[in-house]
Amino acid sequence: MDIKKQKQYIDGKWVNSFSNETREIINPFNQEVIAIAAEGNEKDAQAAINAARKAFDQGDWSTTPATERGQIVHKVADYIERDREELAQLESLDTGKTVEESRGDMDDIASVFRYFAEMADKNGGELIDSPIPNSISKVVHEPVGVCGQITPWNYPLLQASWKLAPALVTGNTLIIKPSEITPLTHVKVFELMEEAGVPAGVANLVLGAGATVGAELSSNTDVDLISFTGGIETGKKIMQAASVNVKKLALELGGKNPNVVFADADFETAVDQAMNAVFFHAGQICSAGTRLIIEESIHDEFVEKLVGRVKNIKMGDGFDDSTQMGPVISQDHLDKIVAYVDQGIKEGAKVEVGAKRPDAPELQNGFFYEPTILTGCTSDMTVVQEEGFGPVITVEKFSTEEEAIRLANDSIYGLAGGVWTQDIAKAERCVAKMRMGTVWINEFNLYFPHAPWGGFKQSGIGRELGKLGIEEYQETKHVFQNLRPEPLNWF
Ligand code: NAD
Repeated sequence: MDIKKQKQYIDGKWVNSFSNETREIINPFNQEVIAIAAEGNEKDAQAAINAARKAFDQGDWSTTPATERGQIVHKVADYIERDREELAQLESLDTGKTVEESRGDMDDIASVFRYFAEMADKNGGELIDSPIPNSISKVVHEPVGVCGQITPWNYPLLQASWKLAPALVTGNTLIIKPSEITPLTHVKVFELMEEAGVPAGVANLVLGAGATVGAELSSNTDVDLISFTGGIETGKKIMQAASVNVKKLALELGGKNPNVVFADADFETAVDQAMNAVFFHAGQICSAGTRLIIEESIHDEFVEKLVGRVKNIKMGDGFDDSTQMGPVISQDHLDKIVAYVDQGIKEGAKVEVGAKRPDAPELQNGFFYEPTILTGCTSDMTVVQEEGFGPVITVEKFSTEEEAIRLANDSIYGLAGGVWTQDIAKAERCVAKMRMGTVWINEFNLYFPHAPWGGFKQSGIGRELGKLGIEEYQETKHVFQNLRPEPLNWF
């Protein structure tokens, strides 16, 4: 594939934007231009919506046997496995994350396509016990229709896979819009979907900005469902725009996730995992365990150990095998992280490590920020409340189980959280009270396609992955058949 020119895929054709405008795609490690992407706008989005509408209303996809749709999606998984290395390198070029992380992402993505391909013909409906004599009552599932899908830049293809695979196996047609700054793996996976035999018009790719392409997908009345992963403020705008025709809505928004460590936890493992919980992909993970909440009696020792290890994290080029943490995505994002940490310091947080850009000469062209630990944090601080989406841990202390739970829940978000303790009864008591879509016990940031993913509170609406991830893309129809119809003679 020629990574220098990234086209859109509309109605089965690779096309430039109507306006012929383009956007430079930048490598966050060195700011080099790695590709030139078509920059679509409302007109491109409308063309894609028309193609998807026609393919849904007049094409065969929605009535193709589910088993056949599943076979096509299995092929997409096969091709992702075949082209794993190329995809991983594209993802790392685009996002700056280490190639090793991207390889792991590609394995996860293949298994997402595989999981939904397997599910394709296993959710056909059911007969229910009708209370009416001589009748048949059945519940069937049908595709929702035309789906608009909008993805973020942090896990570009992974987030896309959670949307593309379930929409396809359930017989919908779709238009997806990646983040304008990370389109490369979306383009490549569309080549793979074309190769696998997804018919023209069924899956469409429009590149471009949120304010144009994204807004059109959200507000166009020919779109029946909008599935969005991204920030909370964008989510609110989409929710408002989608009300125009009461679209079905799935929102995967941000998180400010607590990682609660009790004194009886396996200390070394909890320290190690507290780092993994945040510093993977430079903290740009919606479920990052950025709020570390430690029991008072082990607080100082835990922080000391953590700081010692964090100082050794090696930043650098994601293509260098020794690199452990890459840059953040863009200058804009780096500026936000700098301002966010500075605000925390002004509010009284103490810097244990980091809180600045690195000095190393070889990192000066990239958007690097040092892994940072702030102690003395309290719930009223901006750094504890707002999602920073960078390599930053805030540390809070607690002395009782009740206090730990109260701190963990003290957020407008409710995406995920973790509890570290060897007392299983205590873990279960905490989990029962933690208001989050995923809670890990003695684990952090683990997910797999079989289990649903999504948030309580302002972290979103709906669930991706698992059986619920399929149901997002289905309408439910009750079909009642009277086997002995007779006049009622009421009137
Ligand atoms: P963002 O909200 O800025 O952008 C996400 C997408 O929305 C992009 O494609 C963007 O172009 C588009 N967009 C922007 N304005 C729009 C508008 N007015 N109408 C329609 N679309 C618009 O988010 P981001 O900075 O790309 O991603 C980071 C955010 O994503 C974080 O808040 C993170 O927590 C969240 N996220 C959540 C999950 C999850 O599973 N809950 C997963 C990954 C990322």
